[in-house]
Amino acid sequence: MIIIKSENEINIMREAGKVTGEILRNLKDFIKPGISTLKIDQYIEEYILKHNMRPAFKGLYGFPASACISVNEEVVHGIPRADRILKEGDIVSVDTGTTYKGYVSDAARTFAVGEISEDAKRLIEFTEASFFAGMEFCRVGYRLSDISNAIQRKAESGGLGIIREYVGHGIGKIMHEDPQIPNYGKAGRGPRLVEGMVFAIEPMTVLGHYDTETIDDDWTVVTKDRSLAAHYENTVVVRDGEPEFLTL
Ligand code: MG
Repeated sequence: MIIIKSENEINIMREAGKVTGEILRNLKDFIKPGISTLKIDQYIEEYILKHNMRPAFKGLYGFPASACISVNEEVVHGIPRADRILKEGDIVSVDTGTTYKGYVSDAARTFAVGEISEDAKRLIEFTEASFFAGMEFCRVGYRLSDISNAIQRKAESGGLGIIREYVGHGIGKIMHEDPQIPNYGKAGRGPRLVEGMVFAIEPMTVLGHYDTETIDDDWTVVTKDRSLAAHYENTVVVRDGEPEFLTL
């Protein structure tokens, strides 16, 4: 069941989302060659606590940190580590969120570490663009899979593969509410969108094939062919017209 949020609930989610958006904006300057993924996680956790919120990811399904930090061929759910040092040419996906007054926010970006390859730039650019292509349909009157289809078309126009196993989701008092929102599929299916639905829309894309596997730490998801992966996500409110972005 898709839970429609009241404007009061959305006001709280807007506060939660603002802090998540600020963190991801700040990371653009914070992430440099030589920094560990643990340092990034520590920065995020401190920022969240300083704003009197809680890190929504910490303890979620047993996850040990405040952010999932995934490098290069890692798609999602990377665990921050002191010995994972970023180097020039890497790309790093940071997925994080806050809990405030019982409501959750969720967002992700992929960052360049120093100078990156043209292919890596294309991956990051088309992933973000695919999210915004989906947003054209994240409005009252469209159907859920119209978003999915628009994301897929844009990502594939850039030569990217789209991860199948991991999808966007409804969000509210808990991180993963109904519905599931794939980043691929035929248009014109699923529920009609209604004002006050709140979604975490999150294309996850790859330069190679979309098949994934989970490595020995039981968390980190990597591409089977070890091609580079990217992630772009915001928490979004369905409106009658332009969607409202809570984490931008
Ligand atoms: Mg999410």
